[in-house]
Amino acid sequence: MMTVTLTCKNCGSAIDVVPTKDATKVECSVCQHQMDVQFNDEHLQGILKDCPCCGRKDFYSQKDFNRKLGVMLFVIAAILSIWTYGISFIVLYLFDLILFKKLGLIAVCYKCQTIFRKVTNIKEIHGFNHEMNDRIVYSDHDFGGKPLDH
Ligand SMILES: [Zn+2]
Ligand SMILES: [Zn+2]
Repeated sequence: MMTVTLTCKNCGSAIDVVPTKDATKVECSVCQHQMDVQFNDEHLQGILKDCPCCGRKDFYSQKDFNRKLGVMLFVIAAILSIWTYGISFIVLYLFDLILFKKLGLIAVCYKCQTIFRKVTNIKEIHGFNHEMNDRIVYSDHDFGGKPLDH
């Protein structure tokens, strides 16, 4: 089942939602701000074509990487390296390799930053494109799901 993580427009908190047909409003647990969502049959099957929040069709995929955890592990390895003569960095490197392989891909909406996990058609979604991002975010351009090709 696809999971959707919305960003609250009011306070910026993450709101997790599982797509259901009758979910039309999502409430932020922090500030009680309500947002409209529109799920269709494709969403229920984990297919991402239209954004349930903003209706756009432009998404990018990226590794589901937890940046905070990465930084924390690096700091721990740096401290430990004093006693282990750098061995902790090798351990961290191996750990990173295993961890990174296990990470899945997530899809993110360019327009509203909603995050989608367990997307079945993730292979159809391209990586992050700076030009597309700038045009969608700053000039409100709608690519309609067609990636920019150069
Ligand atoms: Zn909120
Ligand atoms: Zn969106």
